[in-house]
Amino acid sequence: MAWVLTIDGPAGAGKSSVARRLARRLNVRYLDTGAIYRALALSLDRRGVAPAETEELRRALRTISVELRGERVLVNGEDVSDAIRTPHVDGIVSAYSALGCLREALLDLQRDQERYGPLVAEGRDVGSVVFPEAPLKFFMTASPEARARRRYLELQRRGEAVSFEDILSRIRERDRIDSSREIAPLRCPEGAVLVDTSDMTEDEVLEHLERHVRDVLERKRGAP
Ligand code: C5P
Repeated sequence: MAWVLTIDGPAGAGKSSVARRLARRLNVRYLDTGAIYRALALSLDRRGVAPAETEELRRALRTISVELRGERVLVNGEDVSDAIRTPHVDGIVSAYSALGCLREALLDLQRDQERYGPLVAEGRDVGSVVFPEAPLKFFMTASPEARARRRYLELQRRGEAVSFEDILSRIRERDRIDSSREIAPLRCPEGAVLVDTSDMTEDEVLEHLERHVRDVLERKRGAP
């Protein structure tokens, strides 16, 4: 099996851009598991299926296929990569991802990615549940205010009219749901390196992670 590097952490800790850039530097694939959860949530929401463990939702899950093509995510053949990046999806995704049947349905798709070569996988439970045997694990976090500020600037850049307070309260709400859910709650996985990015630039975080990864890979190569 190829090696997997996992990066978990709360919304807005800067995982996505760092994970994508790190994968590129190491010349390996990048797996954005949040995109898969977002795609499924968007599809269920469009169908009017409420986020609850009901027969209706289980039936819907059997008819929805999520597919990854490089960094694009498709639902039943439709490319939803842009549609999943809206404040609306930010607001609904956690309620769906708290459901056990939904998480179960997405496990194989995530684990399958390991077959195609080394991987930088990013999410909320990739180091704890999806790839517990991964040899390299990080947990990236930052204060809610620092995360809200980044998200605010990102949305402003995209021309979306948003208020900072609104974003901060949504981040806190997402943290609350993601951390308190019964199944696969957001936790620093055992053996993971904790990185607090509150006062670090993206480049600094990237350098820090890359140095650590290269050290570990070097040591492994040198090991008898
Ligand atoms: O990382 P991103 O913010 O795109 O993730 C969106 C949501 O998907 C998270 O707030 C969380 O509810 C869910 N998620 C999850 N497990 C993962 C990745 C994402 O529950 N491994």
